[in-house]
Amino acid sequence: MEKILRGVMRYRVLDRASMVKQFQEVKNNPTPKAVFYTCMDSRMIPTRFTETDVGDMFVVRNAGNVVPHSQFFYDEMTSCEPAALELGCIVNDIRHIIVCGHSDCKAMNLLYKLKSKEESSIEQRRLSPLKSWLCNHAYTSLDKFIDMKGDFTKPMVFMGETPQRKFVAYIDPDNKFCIEDKLSQVNTLQQLQNVASYGMLKKRLEKHDLHIHALWFDIYTGDIYYFSRRAKRFVIIDESSYESILAEVRRYYS
Ligand SMILES: [Zn+2]
Repeated sequence: MEKILRGVMRYRVLDRASMVKQFQEVKNNPTPKAVFYTCMDSRMIPTRFTETDVGDMFVVRNAGNVVPHSQFFYDEMTSCEPAALELGCIVNDIRHIIVCGHSDCKAMNLLYKLKSKEESSIEQRRLSPLKSWLCNHAYTSLDKFIDMKGDFTKPMVFMGETPQRKFVAYIDPDNKFCIEDKLSQVNTLQQLQNVASYGMLKKRLEKHDLHIHALWFDIYTGDIYYFSRRAKRFVIIDESSYESILAEVRRYYS
């Protein structure tokens, strides 16, 4: 807490005045660009690694960058994630939704352990809100992952904006990452389908007026990957790939 209080004092001296100025500008001309779902992990600082600023993104964070499927909302067990979709994409007319996973994700490491029936038993879920959260909302990712039977040379199929806009993904084709990180990539892509399950977004998704993207942050190297539907894999965003990723984004999502 002392570190936080010292930080507030430094902020008052260094950043407060310029941020208040930015708040005023945004109030008069709000143009947020994306709703950004990511993990609550303390190493994930999305505004820093995307160099975004006041007014640019609505950021939603939870354990494992999960967006619960709309079925839970229809069963009146809603959570903050779909409320954020409505606030971002309906109230504020944002056109891009981004789900960003990461390596060495503690939530995904735990999800991997929940493969065991003992770990995911009802008794365990009653003792652990984190296990309960993952069993309820991330188990579809785990099921899909288990279906691969450890052979990630095979393609996986995910649903994008609409049931017709399916896409193929090869998870970690260079076999650079551990098994839990592969699960994290599967989970990140699975959330696109969950986002698209909300009826309030259906018309805009069908008209290609609203787009869903996946990013993945590699904690070990600091590299950020974009899921390229054209390349069918997560591609590092760097000097050599930037132009082609930009062309893909412009072609498919502008
Ligand atoms: Zn995480």
